[in-house]
Amino acid sequence: MLIHADPLTRLVDTIFQRRGCPADEADRIAGFLVAANLAGHDSHGVIRVPRYVQYIDDGKITPGGDIDVVTRSESFVLVDGCFGFGQTVGPKAARLGMDMARDNGVGVVALRNAGHLGRIGDYPLRAAAEGLVSVHFVNVAGSCLVAPFGGIDRRFSTAPFAVGIPSEDGPPIILDFATSVVAEGKALVAYNGGKPLPDDSLVGPDGEISGDPLLLYGADASGGAPNPRNGPGALRAMGDHKGSGLALMCELLAGAFTGSGCAGPEVRQVANGMLSFYLSVGAFDDGHGVGAMVRDYVDFVKASRPTEPGGEVLVPGEPERRREAERRRDGIPLSDAAWAAILETARGVGLDQAEIDSIVGANN
Ligand code: NAD
Repeated sequence: MLIHADPLTRLVDTIFQRRGCPADEADRIAGFLVAANLAGHDSHGVIRVPRYVQYIDDGKITPGGDIDVVTRSESFVLVDGCFGFGQTVGPKAARLGMDMARDNGVGVVALRNAGHLGRIGDYPLRAAAEGLVSVHFVNVAGSCLVAPFGGIDRRFSTAPFAVGIPSEDGPPIILDFATSVVAEGKALVAYNGGKPLPDDSLVGPDGEISGDPLLLYGADASGGAPNPRNGPGALRAMGDHKGSGLALMCELLAGAFTGSGCAGPEVRQVANGMLSFYLSVGAFDDGHGVGAMVRDYVDFVKASRPTEPGGEVLVPGEPERRREAERRRDGIPLSDAAWAAILETARGVGLDQAEIDSIVGANN
């Protein structure tokens, strides 16, 4: 099915308000999730709604949470997210870093124990809009899904990495990816009947390479939410030894350095750690014109002749902007299973069909 961003945002917002989130938090959760769908990252979009509500039901996430500043100086801060919603504690922590960068040229933020932060690319996008370069190393404590290069057994989370660079008179360059071949959410999308996975995404218990999401979730979800702990296999680290090395750095910097904890076999609360560096372009630019150099160099890169006739060289951030323009116009595609799970969650928090219809609207 296709649904437009506004009615989908209203429905998700209402679900979280009904489940005990303050209105501003419910707005933010809905805004971040739908923005991920608009950007084409369905893995980090509204498909997460049932799982987030389950986190509240299980007492794993506190609605209306706040950050706790553990230690700080003029240019760095260590922040505990106290298992609040990532969409609340993440932006609060980022605000501290961006303000430090504006005032001192640089702001470093070590965030621990954040609820799921969603699409990390939102952070460099927001920073770039304020004239800041940013670099983000992220891990997921309590989630051990990815086999290292040369290994079968799970050792890493999907540990995403993101960088954003503002350009002059043009959109920012936003690189944002999981260090696994695919993000876990993309496996969830495939498990739910959406886009299939590349056939080198997973490794089975005997070392066989596969694209079968059951290797992550197991064959029997027993009617409950699919659990990526249950499968006999693992996701694979991207980019052979290089991607596997980057995943290790994300675990060490976002997990060990922040104190959030690295991926491991113990069953503990799932939480994102994130080490972010914010740099003010204005503070570093001594007149050499960073923005113009970025713009000119990006033009040079894009002018590389395409390998395929009619092809085009894109830079990071471009596919998401194009997808957003399409989806704002045509609507966001959701698989039947994902939509059914959202409706079931809506009913579970007390919305009846008439309310759902009035929120979503006949033509949405
Ligand atoms: P992906 O494989 O789709 O890669 C996305 C990146 O590659 C973007 O920067 C995009 O602009 C760029 N890109 C894509 N096609 C391109 C092309 N043709 N030319 C140039 N650049 C191109 O992303 P992914 O690994 O599936 O990650 C999806 C999302 O999952 C990300 O937003 C990530 O932050 C998120 N994630 C979050 C967590 C978490 O714990 N919060 C964990 C893992 C992943």
